Amino acid sequence: MKEIAPGGVHVGLDLAQASSWRIGGPADIVVEPENFEQVAAFLRLMGQRPEPVLVIGETTNLFFDSRGFRGVLLRIGPKLAQVSIEGTRVRVQAGARVPELVRQLAEAGLGGISHAGGVPGTIGGLVLMNGGSQRKGIGTHVASVLVADADGTLRRWAPPELGFSYRHSALQGRRAVILEVELELESALPADQIAEIDAIIAERAAKFPLDLPSGGSVFLSDPGMYDVVGPPGRAIETAGLKGLAEGAAQISPKHANFIVNLGTASDDDVLRLIATARNKVRARTGFSMACEVRHVGPDGDLRVAHEVADERWPGLDLSE
Ligand SMILES: Cc1cc2nc3c(=O)[nH]c(=O)nc-3n(C[C@H](O)[C@H](O)[C@H](O)COP(=O)(O)OP(=O)(O)OC[C@H]3O[C@@H](n4cnc5c(N)ncnc54)[C@H](O)[C@@H]3O)c2cc1C
Repeated sequence: MKEIAPGGVHVGLDLAQASSWRIGGPADIVVEPENFEQVAAFLRLMGQRPEPVLVIGETTNLFFDSRGFRGVLLRIGPKLAQVSIEGTRVRVQAGARVPELVRQLAEAGLGGISHAGGVPGTIGGLVLMNGGSQRKGIGTHVASVLVADADGTLRRWAPPELGFSYRHSALQGRRAVILEVELELESALPADQIAEIDAIIAERAAKFPLDLPSGGSVFLSDPGMYDVVGPPGRAIETAGLKGLAEGAAQISPKHANFIVNLGTASDDDVLRLIATARNKVRARTGFSMACEVRHVGPDGDLRVAHEVADERWPGLDLSE
């Protein structure tokens, strides 16, 4: 591994310290490649080995099992974050951080993606999730994506194949690694773009509990439920669950669709709150909320968190 990515191999990294939500145990190995050849060589090597592999960016949309991770995490982060601009066309390596990227592009007179200016994480993670804010997704501005397949083969995907829909892309659920994203943006006045980004960030800071580790919105907004009972945050609040704590995890008193880590939360603490919120809202409204956040099991199983919560505690309601 050290031959493939010299200087980019970490053994026994504590995910409770190193991950965004500060939840997890030790990860056997984390590899951080610094060029596409290293990623391809890594994938070829791991294709012949039994250990599970999971690609991560900044871990802002997932949390790890507190027992840790018995495999290899492939981190596409700051070592793969170059940006090149040609007119309104931008090529960016997948590890670039979104808030800094959006601001850099705004300063260069490029707009269209200011809605993502306050979304933490990497552009690779954002494209995989078709993330964004204000009901928009990055997919609208993606011209192509360079992807390494599980056998290390590199191929460029065009938009129809990428299958973007709300918080979804066709790249999900595959062992594909996003290496580079090509964006087609709009010419814009830098001052206007910066003002828009600043306004969005200020609005988010007023609304969301950004002072504590969290995974962002835990549950996805579903249009059918929205029309009848509103967004998940309102449904959870109306069910009386705002502020409910389990261990060191808490349904945020500031925004009920966020679960914050008050210090040493375990994956069980978060999963119990997810089970309770889901069961209580279902009992009151008939709607089953689905999670946006993912749970990573010790053997690399990446699953939407409510599936794991349902399995561990069917019918749990901590508020009773
Ligand atoms: C406070 C807070 C606020 C948030 N607000 C929003 C919001 O407004 N809108 C929104 O959409 N999201 C939001 N999120 C969720 C999260 O920021 C996004 O989903 C983000 O795009 C994930 O990027 P990441 O690099 O952290 O990915 P990770 O969490 O590391 O990974 C997420 C998924 O992407 C995969 N992945 C990551 N990088 C790659 C790659 N290079 N190639 C292939 N697969 C990859 C992982 O395997 C995993 O399946 C928020 C999160 C937090 C903590």
